[in-house]
Amino acid sequence: MNFDALREFMVRNQLIPRGIRDERVLRAMKKVPRHLFMPESVRYQAYDDSALSIGEGQTISQPYMVAVMTELLELQGSEKVLEVGTGSGYQAAVLAELVKEVYTIERIELLAQRAEEQFQSLGYTHLHVKTGDGTLGWPEQAPFDRILITAGSPKIPEPLREQLADEGILIAPVGDRFSQQLLRLKKSKDIFSEEYHTPCVFVPLIGRHGWSSDDRDNPQFSY
Ligand code: SAH
Repeated sequence: MNFDALREFMVRNQLIPRGIRDERVLRAMKKVPRHLFMPESVRYQAYDDSALSIGEGQTISQPYMVAVMTELLELQGSEKVLEVGTGSGYQAAVLAELVKEVYTIERIELLAQRAEEQFQSLGYTHLHVKTGDGTLGWPEQAPFDRILITAGSPKIPEPLREQLADEGILIAPVGDRFSQQLLRLKKSKDIFSEEYHTPCVFVPLIGRHGWSSDDRDNPQFSY
């Protein structure tokens, strides 16, 4: 398959017509080989207009959603960014094309390991991964100019608010377990302002300041 052509088509048909304007974001998404971040059996669908399963009950986000979140971060190039929810590693790689340092946390060790291998093989030396509960943030590396949560959250975890730098921006899908809306939080001299953007559906953020893993026993919680 000609993945370069499919990627070009994805940018031209899924992102630009829906209003993604940031040239740097479009360039990064034209460049990052999304298909390499998913199991071989589903690579032929890599550039489809949808989220896809990557195993372990988790998903790689829809290209458009990755573009929207990245654009909302208003990246200039010099930022230090934290992502919570590495998943496949694709979003982190897109961020790594755009900023100075990226830190990403994944609670499922196998996914973190796979993403790490992919980052190494693609040469992203300024992208750092760890396994753990991302709702606690990464205190040793804080503060972060930007924070992106890529799992559905009942609220913004308090440690992440604290680890956001002054004049920082945090994006998170906030809502209930089945549907959320992207929330953009801007911090200025310890005052937070909030704006709601695109509706979305993400797998749940599970951790101390997210959903409890016991919620999985709830029959309505069918992930
Ligand atoms: N950004 C990913 C998609 C994320 S899917 C990509 O580009 O592919 C959400 C991910 O968040 C899942 O892999 C899930 O295991 C992870 N996750 C859920 N709760 C978490 C937590 N508390 N800390 C870190 N990762 C978490």
